[in-house]
Amino acid sequence: MTFSQQTKGEILKSIKTSRSCCCDTFVYTVLKATGSLELTVKGLALSVSSENADFLHVLSDVAYRSAGVRATVQSENTSAKGAVIYRAVFDKRLLKKFPLAYRDEEGFIKLNEDIALKNMDACCVRTFVQALFVSCGSLVVPDGGALTDDLPAGRYHMEFVLQKQDFAQFALKVLQDAGFNFRITQRKNNYVLYIKESEQIADMLVFMNAMSAKLQLENVIIQRNLRNVANRQSNCISANIDKSVNASARQIQSITLLQEHGKLALLSKQLQQIARLRLDNPDATMSELAEMSQLTKSGVAHRLDKLVVLARQLEEQGEN
Ligand SMILES: [Zn+2]
Repeated sequence: MTFSQQTKGEILKSIKTSRSCCCDTFVYTVLKATGSLELTVKGLALSVSSENADFLHVLSDVAYRSAGVRATVQSENTSAKGAVIYRAVFDKRLLKKFPLAYRDEEGFIKLNEDIALKNMDACCVRTFVQALFVSCGSLVVPDGGALTDDLPAGRYHMEFVLQKQDFAQFALKVLQDAGFNFRITQRKNNYVLYIKESEQIADMLVFMNAMSAKLQLENVIIQRNLRNVANRQSNCISANIDKSVNASARQIQSITLLQEHGKLALLSKQLQQIARLRLDNPDATMSELAEMSQLTKSGVAHRLDKLVVLARQLEEQGEN
């Protein structure tokens, strides 16, 4: 089960059906977001398709509370991905309560583009967002458990996919008024409302009463932060190790060259001492060499640098 599906399951359990205003809002929002109008042998009908049978059963129950009409829920043919698609069909009695379509003067059936959700109470704003999520929402979060990180960064994503521009703009305004910075974009023939900030997504989950999804998301955020800190530290440490290993190798090379040309014995006692110390301790860090030689770190570095410079001069002389 995906995180999206799990979250929808949790939201469906917390839909407020004790208030009739919220029942109306839920049914209307779902129909507006994903419903389609059909002409059947029994006349006009409204249908909602989904891979989630639980969602359609909840929709049917809430529609019964709201309008006294239940849906027939059947499994349909499978989707391209092989999942079973379910379809809830309401007969035209539901259209009496929710005028989503009308007959024009010539008798043609037209979709009603008006949006009948004006001045929603706070309870209904929450129900609206919940209905939107269970019918056309999805949510992706990175896998916080895995230590290998082969997915691109910034993988928190919540979106709603809507077909009608007016309704998408309306939903955008409701979400923004509720404090969520959703943006809108067009994808094929759809209007997509989305957020990518993990904090905003967490707040949305709280708003939709999906508390265990929110806790799960927080876990992912914490684990990723820890992993990022650990990665940064180990990158930093290995970069420093590389640097000092390279430096030590270069110093040893220089000292050996000076030695081979009989130049080391001609240098000052201090330089000879540090050269010997380096040759004896190829893996020692600057701090360790400083401690062994009773010099400061910069004193050690200065003398070793001097040896490297002398060796380079010797090399250059040899080339000329
Ligand atoms: Zn309400």
